[in-house]
Amino acid sequence: MNDTPAYVADRNSLLKDLEHFINDHLSEGKKLAILLININHFRQINVIYGYQSADILLEEFVHRLKKLSREQDYIARVGNSEFIMVLPEILNEGHVTLAANKLLSCLNTPFSFGDSNHKVIADMGIALFPDHAIDIQGLIQKAELALLDARSSAKSYSIYKKKSQQVDFYNWDIEDELRNAQERDEFELFFQPQVNLQTGKLFGAEALIRWNNREKGRIRPDLFIPIAEESGQIHSITWWTINAALRLIKDWPETLPPLQVSVNLSAKVLSDPELVHSVRSALSIWGAKPEQLTLEVTESALMEDMDTSFITLDELRSFGLNISIDDFGTGYSSMAYFKYIPANELKIDQSFIRYMLDNEMDQHIVKTVIEMAHGFDIKVVAEGIENEETYNSLKELGCDIAQGYFLAKPMPQDEFIQWLKNYQS
Ligand code: C2E
Ligand code: CA
Ligand code: CA
Repeated sequence: MNDTPAYVADRNSLLKDLEHFINDHLSEGKKLAILLININHFRQINVIYGYQSADILLEEFVHRLKKLSREQDYIARVGNSEFIMVLPEILNEGHVTLAANKLLSCLNTPFSFGDSNHKVIADMGIALFPDHAIDIQGLIQKAELALLDARSSAKSYSIYKKKSQQVDFYNWDIEDELRNAQERDEFELFFQPQVNLQTGKLFGAEALIRWNNREKGRIRPDLFIPIAEESGQIHSITWWTINAALRLIKDWPETLPPLQVSVNLSAKVLSDPELVHSVRSALSIWGAKPEQLTLEVTESALMEDMDTSFITLDELRSFGLNISIDDFGTGYSSMAYFKYIPANELKIDQSFIRYMLDNEMDQHIVKTVIEMAHGFDIKVVAEGIENEETYNSLKELGCDIAQGYFLAKPMPQDEFIQWLKNYQS
């Protein structure tokens, strides 16, 4: 078994070690697996329970991993909460699956830090040599992609798949297709209801874009939005979204309760000097009240250029628009900048909501965020609620607004109006 202590490995010696493994396997025609393991919500553990507790957790985590490892396995810490493991001489994917399950079983027993026991969750991304890449950078990159996949689904580990969308889109000019999408009328806006947790009444809806491409069918927004951001097309897509959302507000049946719609703004749009002017003119064209529109900005977008984004958001707030901080808890700012954040709403990231019933620590984080937000007169939205137990538990914690599959999935405008009519009756 390897004796690497739980410090962050020096990059050069890490790469040398990994290179050594690869060369060994290259000459002998064997397979090996690279595992990237990330402890969830480690930053929050640091903030809430203190650095000493976080260090105890890390030591114990490594100790448990090592206990479950074979003599020849290698483990190193590569980031605050990220570890890399090399499993040499793997026979096939089934073998890796067994190993992944066994290693993750180290989390079955709660960890003891602070003054109680806590259930800890980790995600794992796996890539195989030579199946997925034959060089170390390539393998790490594939393991990172698999880790992202594990994180965005409810799986605890994921093995890199060649047939993932990244590869499907190889040779397909997504940028070019995106450019034509608006002309061809391929975008559609879906709406996911948000309900006031305390009264059970409709609060509003989040507008989520869908792209129905004539060749590839429906393409997920988390795949094409980053490409639109890079190519600059995100600006026109955002204006399309804002206009479509305002159209819904204008066409909203008077017999239904008033509606507030949230639209997502990416970092690129937040730093657009025309933003304030454009939003104001869109509101006046559609004759909508600023209070009916919420702009969602992720915590990480906000932090990219904090000074400028705070000024912009303050300006938008000053004429009545709602500002919501999306995916709250996943970025760097969280607690430190809390009181300065120019927002009247924050959305706790789904990753905290998903496990909160089984995970005392996530529940503690959710509770702390709700209390702090209320202290600053900020509403809290819980997103990703998938069952009634979670809904009730959030209600008890005093959370303000609920959103998630438990209530409804995002749907086209007509279906949304129909859903609301059924929901009310
Ligand atoms: P987001 O802003 O965090 O949106 C929430 C995502 O969670 C949506 O995925 C929604 O369908 C999904 N979701 C809601 N409730 C549940 C639940 O109970 N369980 C699970 N597993 N998922 C749930 P969607 O629509 O695929 O959007 C993904 C991301 O794409 C969004 O994340 C947002 O970052 C981006 N996006 C979507 N539409 C737009 C847009 O018009 N503009 C920009 N800039 N980004 C957009
Ligand atoms: Ca959002
Ligand atoms: Ca979100």
